[in-house]
Amino acid sequence: MSALLDNLNPEQLAAVTLPPQPALILAGAGSGKTRVLTTRIAWLISTGQASQASILAVTFTNKAAKEMSARLAAMLPINPRGMWIGTFHGLCNRLLRAHSRDAGLPETFQILDTADQLAAIKRLVKALNVDDEKYPPRELQHFINANKEAGLRAAEVEAWDEWTRKRVEIYAEYERQCQKEGVVDFAELLLRAFELLSRNEPLRLHYQSRFRHILVDEFQDTNHLQYEWLKLLAAYGGAAPAAVFAVGDDDQSIYAFRGADVGNMRDFERQFAVKSVIRLEQNYRSHGNILDAANAIIANNSKRLGKNLWTEAGAGEPIRLFEAPTDIDEARWIVEETQALIRDGAARSDIAVLYRSNAQSRVLEHQLFSTGIPYRVYGGLRFFERQEIKHALAYLRLLANPDDDTAFLRVVNFPTRGIGARSIEALADSARTYNASLYATVPHLAGRPGASLALFVRLIEDMRQATRDLPLPEVIDHVLDASGLRTHYRAEREGEERLSNLDELLSAAANFVAEAEEPGLAGFLAHASLEAGEHQADAGQDAVQLMSIHAAKGLEFDVVFLSGLEEGLCPHENAISEPDGLEEERRLIYVAVTRARKRLYLSLAQSRMLHGQTRYSMKSRFIDEIPAGLIKWLTPAARPAAERYFDPAPRKAQSQAKDLGGLRIGQLVSHPKFGQGVIVSAEGAGSDARIQINFGGVHGMKWLVLSLAKLTPA
Ligand code: ATP
Ligand code: MG
Repeated sequence: MSALLDNLNPEQLAAVTLPPQPALILAGAGSGKTRVLTTRIAWLISTGQASQASILAVTFTNKAAKEMSARLAAMLPINPRGMWIGTFHGLCNRLLRAHSRDAGLPETFQILDTADQLAAIKRLVKALNVDDEKYPPRELQHFINANKEAGLRAAEVEAWDEWTRKRVEIYAEYERQCQKEGVVDFAELLLRAFELLSRNEPLRLHYQSRFRHILVDEFQDTNHLQYEWLKLLAAYGGAAPAAVFAVGDDDQSIYAFRGADVGNMRDFERQFAVKSVIRLEQNYRSHGNILDAANAIIANNSKRLGKNLWTEAGAGEPIRLFEAPTDIDEARWIVEETQALIRDGAARSDIAVLYRSNAQSRVLEHQLFSTGIPYRVYGGLRFFERQEIKHALAYLRLLANPDDDTAFLRVVNFPTRGIGARSIEALADSARTYNASLYATVPHLAGRPGASLALFVRLIEDMRQATRDLPLPEVIDHVLDASGLRTHYRAEREGEERLSNLDELLSAAANFVAEAEEPGLAGFLAHASLEAGEHQADAGQDAVQLMSIHAAKGLEFDVVFLSGLEEGLCPHENAISEPDGLEEERRLIYVAVTRARKRLYLSLAQSRMLHGQTRYSMKSRFIDEIPAGLIKWLTPAARPAAERYFDPAPRKAQSQAKDLGGLRIGQLVSHPKFGQGVIVSAEGAGSDARIQINFGGVHGMKWLVLSLAKLTPA
């Protein structure tokens, strides 16, 4: 046992061995919060103070849950597989699966991911004849989720104006629709689990007496409903509340946009009468320069509970900063640098490339892919979100639950089988009349549409028959053939990759069966919705890690590339104008910087193609918040970006007209090889003058020597 506690500093030791009482560990990045939490679980079990079954631990991502289980397995002679360690969503899903009937859900209820939810709302808006300009589906989605996260059902939302009244009506209709289909969205998982426990006393008492130790990592990012759920489970206010052990860092609160509330930390301290808040100040993760940079950045925030981090590690290397002309150059540089690191012996999985926006991953992926460096993307457009995978999953979902209208609509005419929009509309109309699911309504539909739809139902029923007793991978294999998906993609010109993704689904299923406690179809589908993306590359292969800053929370890497440090991107343009928004962006940067152990690279691009548009940006203000002495510029450009730029405004551009041989910034020109493009910037003078042109399409952004490029005004 003592080996468990070796190497802890006095504050960490105190935290790990606290008596079973409410506790709050408030500490900065890399100070060992997660390590303390994990060690405490091991300590409770190994000293016999708690059984495995009495512990519930909440982590922020599935990746973190896996790491925690793996660490526990290494510390103790136990099998952590059966333990309740997971994300809020994962744990609520588990609870609802175990008590689906009590929760008012079909046993095989399906989970709608964010995209499915939006599609369902769009359908509803159409069916209800609602003006989608006045009630944009995305806004409705936000409205519904925000209310659910506040614990409010449609019937409980107060509406003071016409606009909100209508939105509440749609929310209510959406609830009915989901209930009819037997599907739940992410917010519903939490709300349903909360309601289950609050309404069902025997069940509540059962879990309250079972989970005597509740440990929560990243507590600063819990939202209202999650906190209420925890209070319920912990029997807060009762005679024998559970020992809640919460760890968090207010400086790393980055989910306010999704309803997370740092205030929960203060509420927790007060409501649970936490006797002493333990602070950890020694950072064990990063070299000094990296930590100094992080401390300097976050010091600019005003709303902080305040703490200081120090390290015994040496200063280490300077922070490397690279400014690229374009996002493609930036990606190319990151990949070259990565190659060099790997050549020097770095493991690929010790290298992470972080970005503010998932849209940035495409260019990075492309460069990595063309260089042949294995990589894995966490978050963003992920394996389980790819079109062909979603189609395959939709068939599987129909097998599990034919009332799932979202799945039905996705594949009823895919691959095409001559079922037109009109037939589907007729079907949807009668489904509303019968108040039944689309699938269940098909037998009631007369005429030709009825006949072709009946064939589809028949297809699904046949699949169900044929796969009844098969193991999961064989079920999927059968469905891929019987549905016609394989044939369809085989005929598609670029279908090869999609086919191999479909095969990858078989491996995902095989892995799942090997690891899961409930290796059935329903379990696999839940896994696909919840863990999207975390299995997409070959499991076990050493790969460079790509993820958004949000997804990197709690993780650490020897080398971190933080890309896209431009005004408008990071800080994000939507956040710049409000102080709270800006502080949240700064916390985001703080999280990103503190992921690095030994080496930190920062990069930015002067121009970037995002969402189909080229944008020109200044370097992020956060770079200027890092003491200059910590930074080593890798580009000669220590001057601010604006100086090297000609303002695209016509007045200024005109004054440069002579330098550009009669051309001006913003002008459309023709190039004999690259076609038409727009001049976006220029640098140098005389025979050295270079000019940057965006040709769009395959050629993209190019720097050309003005005196050599044969440009003509277009
Ligand atoms: P974050 O805020 O980013 O989630 P954290 O506070 O949870 O960080 P950990 O991930 O638990 O920090 O720890 C950071 C690193 O420091 C880990 O590699 C951990 O193993 C190491 N570490 C923590 N405490 C000690 C210690 N006492 N001795 C040696 N290494 C330690
Ligand atoms: Mg942590």
